[in-house]
Amino acid sequence: MSQNPGPPAGAPTPPRYRGRLAPSPTGYLHLGHARTFWTAHERARQNGGVLILRNEDLDRTRCRPEFVAAMIEDLRWFGLDWQEGPDCGGPFGPYHQSERINSYRATLEHLRAGNRIYPCTCSRKDIQAAVSAPHGDDEPVYPGTCRGRTVPPAGGTQYSWRFRVPEGQGIEFHDQHLGPQRFVAGRDFGDFVVWRPDDVPAYQLACVADDAAMGITEVVRGADLLVSTARQLLLYRALKLPPPAFFHCDLLADETGRRLAKRHDSLSLRTLRQRGETPSLLRQLQIAGSFAK
Ligand SMILES: [Zn+2]
Repeated sequence: MSQNPGPPAGAPTPPRYRGRLAPSPTGYLHLGHARTFWTAHERARQNGGVLILRNEDLDRTRCRPEFVAAMIEDLRWFGLDWQEGPDCGGPFGPYHQSERINSYRATLEHLRAGNRIYPCTCSRKDIQAAVSAPHGDDEPVYPGTCRGRTVPPAGGTQYSWRFRVPEGQGIEFHDQHLGPQRFVAGRDFGDFVVWRPDDVPAYQLACVADDAAMGITEVVRGADLLVSTARQLLLYRALKLPPPAFFHCDLLADETGRRLAKRHDSLSLRTLRQRGETPSLLRQLQIAGSFAK
């Protein structure tokens, strides 16, 4: 019997772990973000990998430049470090999404050429009116109103591009933290927007284009994005790109059980720091799943 032979000669070595922090500069970071980012940081460190900071600043109406500087300062204060990012550069830049529009347009064109998307003129109101079933946190399942449309409307009518999902198909993946996941296209989520009416790439498209282009091997993010992962796996498939692994973190809730959001000012890293809390104490609290009230 031979000893553990190791990988055969010439076998491809697995790519080095590449993770990312991908905050949006729409407000101050709070403890919920910090916990997810800390997990991402620890995953990269434990795997001897690289961590990337990506500034998700596509939403021109909500992102503000002063939050970018604050975000970087707060993340550093919390004890996070990264090897590539808008402040330190790297081989996969630019690391501001607002500077990557050409890459998103190429991805959109790829989907359009493959007949995976269609122009949709429905407003949020139209969709809510057409959908009677209740929908929790997530967007309602698109009723398919514009599915037959092949060319954009003429005359300056606003429209989005929507991805056509394979109705009834199960999308399965193994989450590195939460285990096996399964969503059914057309039931758990419908045709989704990949390009917005205000000519901005939607989250799903930008995220997939960037994670693929930046060689990300594992995505660490909050469990509120599990359904988005199912959508994104369809994009990877349509684009013939290998998907990364996914690790979805449990979400922090406040004392009333509501999910933490940027509206919780008292739990922003900034406020906690001004109150004299230390990063090491905050890390202990959040690892224990509790936090200062
Ligand atoms: Zn429509």
